[in-house]
Amino acid sequence: MTTTQSKWLDAELKYDSGVYNKHHVVMTRGLGATVWDESGRSYIDCVAGYGVANIGHSHPDVVRAVKEQVDRLIVMPQTLPNDKRAEFLGELVGVLPQGLERVFLCNSGTEAMEAAKKFAITATGRQRFVSMKRGFSGRSLGALAFTWEPKYREPFGDAVDNKNVDFVSYGNVEELRAAITDQTAAVIMEPVQGEGGVRPASAEFMQEARRLTKEKGALLILDEIQTGFCRTGKMFAAEHFGVTPDAMTLAKAMAGGLPIGALAMTAEVADRMPAGGHGTTFGGNPLSMAAGVAAIRAMKREGMAEQAREKGAYFMERLRAIQSPKIREVRGLGLMIGVELKEKSAPYIHALEHEEGVLTLQATPLVVRFLPPVTISKEQIDTVIAAFERVLQTVDPRAERRAELAQGAEEKQSE
Ligand SMILES: *Cc1c(COP(=O)(O)O)cnc(C)c1O
Repeated sequence: MTTTQSKWLDAELKYDSGVYNKHHVVMTRGLGATVWDESGRSYIDCVAGYGVANIGHSHPDVVRAVKEQVDRLIVMPQTLPNDKRAEFLGELVGVLPQGLERVFLCNSGTEAMEAAKKFAITATGRQRFVSMKRGFSGRSLGALAFTWEPKYREPFGDAVDNKNVDFVSYGNVEELRAAITDQTAAVIMEPVQGEGGVRPASAEFMQEARRLTKEKGALLILDEIQTGFCRTGKMFAAEHFGVTPDAMTLAKAMAGGLPIGALAMTAEVADRMPAGGHGTTFGGNPLSMAAGVAAIRAMKREGMAEQAREKGAYFMERLRAIQSPKIREVRGLGLMIGVELKEKSAPYIHALEHEEGVLTLQATPLVVRFLPPVTISKEQIDTVIAAFERVLQTVDPRAERRAELAQGAEEKQSE
């Protein structure tokens, strides 16, 4: 394996920090729901940059907007107003649920969670939080405190300060009621848990979370970083449940692929944060703003929410029709889909990539997750289904494990 590696792969493996389990492939181009590696091989991309490329890779409107903006202005801090930023804020607030009319701009989902934490504390004068078991909120020390899975937190010990966080079972109204007190600043939850295994919330749980937070003077903060921007068949997943939060964290698909993040909130939440209380250098940069304007307009013009709803229903119907004793459950909302297997999903994800040219991702060890661009065609969905059926039949997890161990040994030797 090592001798046939390209110089690009060699360099990444050599210089990277080592926190990523890198696939042995070098991706060089993308368009719509297709990406190509350096040898010219094409893949149907159901990873989409972890749910970033909702409107497809290199959407022509985003490409044009970025090209135009790059010639005009790339950086401008937020103390200095900028035409593209103003335009973006107008577009964003225009699609947000009613009542969310103020925005803190940043560069990633994790940063949006950090902002949510600080704004919730200043808005309520309280410091306790309720988060969800199986929830995922990001990797910074502050956001990690809301992340349930111990493997993300434990290596960093007490530096992850989650003494002030109570975790409740996602969907358990009784536990939620017991956890929310008059010390609670906010309840934080994903409308569909992503990393936790693609689990949609029940309407009852979401509505109770809304009611109980209001009753106790706490905020309801929805993490729509993965679910937002048409992924689930609505512009925001909260719309499925008839719930309007006090704040929403946004990132991933918001700028058609460029780095961006935001905390959207009510005026009451925003108004209690003092000037200078938070900030970031790259947040609201004109380049991401131009891309964001183009992306949100494309979502509206091309009816991307409707497309995600229809294609997601079709995708899940086809998955549910697969007859395989290896499948435990097919779950999801719109084009955020998970298939829970009765065994580890990694060998299947590996085979889909290598043998079938289909990129998928894991969500918990048992789940194969599909987050394709909303622009994926029915024919591409059919191809993915056929590929998945084949790997379910051909992959022998024990043989795969032996091959993995053998490959690991080979790599060790060649070092
Ligand atoms: C991806 C994700 C995050 C973290 O976002 P980054 O941009 O990777 O920092 C937080 N919450 C949810 C639900 C996510 O899916």
